[in-house]
Amino acid sequence: MDKFVAGVEKYQQLIFPRQKGLFQRLRAGQNPRVFFITCSDSRIDPSLITQTEPGELFVLRNPGNIIPPFGTAHGSEAATVEYAVAGLKVPHIIVCGHYHCGAMTELVQREHVDDLPITSAWLGFAQPVRNALGEYRLDSNDDLVSKACELNVLIQMQNLRTHPSVADRLAQNDISIHGWIYDFLTADVQVYHSGQHCFISLT
Ligand SMILES: [Zn+2]
Repeated sequence: MDKFVAGVEKYQQLIFPRQKGLFQRLRAGQNPRVFFITCSDSRIDPSLITQTEPGELFVLRNPGNIIPPFGTAHGSEAATVEYAVAGLKVPHIIVCGHYHCGAMTELVQREHVDDLPITSAWLGFAQPVRNALGEYRLDSNDDLVSKACELNVLIQMQNLRTHPSVADRLAQNDISIHGWIYDFLTADVQVYHSGQHCFISLT
């Protein structure tokens, strides 16, 4: 734990003094512009990728960046979606999946989850990804996992739209849902282009 205690000390002494004014302003309330949904994976850092400061991203993370369809689970995901969309009125939602995702690897290969019953049940919400993979002729396991990572972003975007708070805002045309996929080996971020039905470079 020493490394982490030293990290807190460094933050308090060196970083926080520069951010004090920002947090004083944020004391009045948060007004994030983006609801960022991504994987719990320790190699993903939303603020690092987007170079954003505290107060700019409202973040939901879980294994596999999964949003259960509305009414199928009463966990923190539904509450977080409702709070971000109907409460904070964020104008943008980003579903950010990533390549080399452990959750999608397990979904495809099912090597370890048999010993992890809760994880296995959770990945059941991504079962449509497994079903959709059958349409693709992919040779290697790596290609299958990468395709699963991409398909999962699209399926979770669909699931988001089943939540009444999201459907209401979409009907009013005042919220946008973006599908991103990130590769931490290259820093490449691609965005789903609905017209071209594929992911293209964000930048
Ligand atoms: Zn992941």
